[in-house]
Amino acid sequence: MSLRACRVCQGTDLLHHSTLENFPVFIWPLKTPEISKHPTTNIELYICKMCGHAQLQDFSDEFVSYLYSEGSCLEDERALKTERHQKLSQNLGATFFDHKRVLDVGGGNNPYAMFLPKSEYWISDIAPTPQAKELTPHIVEGPFENAAIPNGYFDVIFSFQSMEHFSRPSDVVSKMAKSLKDDGILVIEVPNFQGLVNKLPYYTLFHQHISIFSVTSLFKIAEKHGFFPHNLLRQDEVILAIFKKSKPQEPVEFQEPTSVEMANRLMNRFKILKTFLEKDQNLIGEIAAYSAGGSMALMLSHYPQLREKVTLCFDIDKRKQGRFLPLTAVPVQDPVHIAKHKAVPFLFLNDTLYDLIVKEYKVKGANVAKMLAEIDHIESEK
Ligand SMILES: [Zn+2]
Repeated sequence: MSLRACRVCQGTDLLHHSTLENFPVFIWPLKTPEISKHPTTNIELYICKMCGHAQLQDFSDEFVSYLYSEGSCLEDERALKTERHQKLSQNLGATFFDHKRVLDVGGGNNPYAMFLPKSEYWISDIAPTPQAKELTPHIVEGPFENAAIPNGYFDVIFSFQSMEHFSRPSDVVSKMAKSLKDDGILVIEVPNFQGLVNKLPYYTLFHQHISIFSVTSLFKIAEKHGFFPHNLLRQDEVILAIFKKSKPQEPVEFQEPTSVEMANRLMNRFKILKTFLEKDQNLIGEIAAYSAGGSMALMLSHYPQLREKVTLCFDIDKRKQGRFLPLTAVPVQDPVHIAKHKAVPFLFLNDTLYDLIVKEYKVKGANVAKMLAEIDHIESEK
């Protein structure tokens, strides 16, 4: 499996940085406990030597559709949407979107439309949900690159948490440039490579996220199609930026490591985390996984020996309950059943859940977020 050309600059001078073996194709709980029906493939991480864009190997269009064929239990991204809305309102003004023609590319699952009731809101998505269809009559179903969308029509184009999913993002930005008015704005939000390495390293690389954007590579792909960055509103776990077709008075300043440095740090953090996991007394025998989302499936895929020890799994999300943790025959149960399994130590991925569940059920546990904080400390001392 290889990559023929960079998805941002089309350059062919590519660094093959690393391989993650046998990663689950579906990171949400599956309907069957038969592990042979939990498909896996390797993940190959490439970094373009020309523009620095980090990305996975080539996938066929059939494979990309297959990635979404099992559906996904989308997390409620309300916090993310609220923060986004605050940033955009602060920067553009609270009434900026009123009576504007807005296109939300890839917003069929989690539309932002509820925040902008006074706009003419269009959604382009491969598979919009019935909820999205209730929000607006302007739904264009199918791949955005070929969508029947008027040229030069929109005042605003949004792409929130969608650019990383496209196998040909350059074609997407090219189409955005055609659809946007000359004085329109393009607003893009993507997961930030640097922020993921810091906060959620195990959630950085998976099949659905074909591109791992940095600020540098996001700006490059926009500039290639005639967009100039005007504002960088967030550069933490996500990148949130505003682009226009006109040059800004002052260029947008930012700092970040190179993608190769970020990828090296990511792999190094996995190695150090392994030593933490191996020495944690809670993780010697069987363990219970608290939460069954993509984060847990990926965390356990980085450490298959840890996954083999998981005999129980709990998640508050009813859609996940009764299904099976990827690459295991472990069913996802309602946390009300924890009381029966207090002797088994738990694996947690975040401080909030650790504090809540340990206190409520008096269980023991290992907390990966705490381990990562200690790793930050070790790294900062070097
Ligand atoms: Zn490139």
